[in-house]
Amino acid sequence: MRAEGTFELARRCFTKTQKLLILRRANYKCQYCGTTLSEENFEADHKLPFAQGGATEVWNALALCTDCNRRKSDKLEGE
Ligand SMILES: [Zn+2]
Repeated sequence: MRAEGTFELARRCFTKTQKLLILRRANYKCQYCGTTLSEENFEADHKLPFAQGGATEVWNALALCTDCNRRKSDKLEGE
C-alpha cells in the first residue's frame, strides 16, 4: 500500500538542471516527432520506464513534446 511513497523517494521526476541538459542534448527537438521544443512544451521522459527500474538520470531520458509525452503515458497506463 505504500508503493507510491516509495516512488517518490526514488525520485521519479527530473530536476530542472537535468531537464535543461536533456533538452540541450536533444538539440531542442522532440525525439519522437521532431517538433521544435521550448521550455514550455518540453517534457523529460524515462527511456526505460521508471516502473521497470529505469533511473531518473540524463542518460535514461528522452526529450519529448507535451503531446508525445501524453500519448506515451496514456498508453502505458492503459496496459
Ligand atoms: Zn513530439
